[in-house]
Amino acid sequence: MSPSNPLQDKHLWVKILLGLVLGIGFGLALSPEAGALFSPERTRVIAEWVELPGLIFMGLLKMVVVPLVICSIITGIAESGSLGFVKVIGTRIILYFVLTSSIAILIGIGITSFINPGSGLSSGFVDHALAQQAEMSAPQTLEGLTIPKRIANVIPTNPAKAQLEKNMLQIVIVALLIGLALLSLPKATGQPILTLCQSGLSIAMKIIEWAMLLAPYAVFGLIANVVIKLGFEAVTGVALYMVTVLLGLGIMFMIYLFLAKFVGQQSIPAFLKAIREAQIIAFSSSSSAATIPVSMKCAEEHLKIPKKVAGFTIPLGATINMDGTALYQAVAAIFLTQVFGVDLSTGDMVLLLVTTVGASIGTPGIPGIGIVVLATILTGIGVPAEGIALILGVDRILDMCRTTINVTGDLTATVVMNRWVKE
Ligand code: ASP
Repeated sequence: MSPSNPLQDKHLWVKILLGLVLGIGFGLALSPEAGALFSPERTRVIAEWVELPGLIFMGLLKMVVVPLVICSIITGIAESGSLGFVKVIGTRIILYFVLTSSIAILIGIGITSFINPGSGLSSGFVDHALAQQAEMSAPQTLEGLTIPKRIANVIPTNPAKAQLEKNMLQIVIVALLIGLALLSLPKATGQPILTLCQSGLSIAMKIIEWAMLLAPYAVFGLIANVVIKLGFEAVTGVALYMVTVLLGLGIMFMIYLFLAKFVGQQSIPAFLKAIREAQIIAFSSSSSAATIPVSMKCAEEHLKIPKKVAGFTIPLGATINMDGTALYQAVAAIFLTQVFGVDLSTGDMVLLLVTTVGASIGTPGIPGIGIVVLATILTGIGVPAEGIALILGVDRILDMCRTTINVTGDLTATVVMNRWVKE
């Protein structure tokens, strides 16, 4: 074991977990609502400094994510050796993603209808949250996020702009097309670009290795910062709703373990061990896109998945497969119908399913975006979008959990695909 290669540090995972636990404790100690140790002003300054390693770590991951996705998809396709292979894996993975997203949504709808968290909500809490919403401006703009617009937008007319704006879906499409074109050309013609991508991939992976040195401190800082800012009052108001989301995500997690074991032929403890670094980074960063580099590492180095599979499934999955987000959106939508007494017909339910699957494809893997897209889904089924105010306070914590499930889903898809394409 060489200490200069942190990803081979057997204790890295323990250090990252320790960072997580200590970060939560530190955040609670500093949280104004949990009895602050310092004045709000001083707490703010401390929180900023504590978050610094986290910001540097996230900066490094985000810096390499675009070249990494481009290079890994291009080399993955080129190294697969045939258009036939790409066609098989491409068709299967899209079907798989649509299927698992639909299962996630059905679990969300089923569990929320069963638990009925919206019925017991105090009217005082609802009125207070709605009044606050009226005073607040929207958390992020919804413009350009309508589902048909997103679908029409997947082909970038200007690939440089797509990179500049980090539009992952567009970047994935460009890389897929370049990879496919390379496969269709005589080997010598495409070789310079392929060599460039192979080298780019190695450079990106090296930078990620360095970034991982910071991971335990980064996780500590990121999580402490989130906990300091968390509104505990908001949590108690919608506790049953939170429990419903978490229970649904837990069921989805069990389904992944089942798939990894029986379809991917993995031992469950080994699978969990292999993916835990990616899970903790997803949990602390709330961004499946920023976690791509770590997921790639876990897939290739720990799970031993060939580049031609992982290089394809991880970036694609992080971009279009968000089962955790889809499940969360279904729970939130049904919860709000219960709060506002809106009756959904079977047609509305089908519409909810279709729009949520569509939304999960077009939703970027960045923090907090799931709730923004939820507004579009709600409008589609006739639920007042202002209802989002009720669940906004607890969104960050649910975002952390759903992002962990999103990333686990991508890694499960990778072991499943690896098995399917071998056969
Ligand atoms: N934060 C989630 C992700 O990156 C997306 C969301 O649900 O907000 O996967």
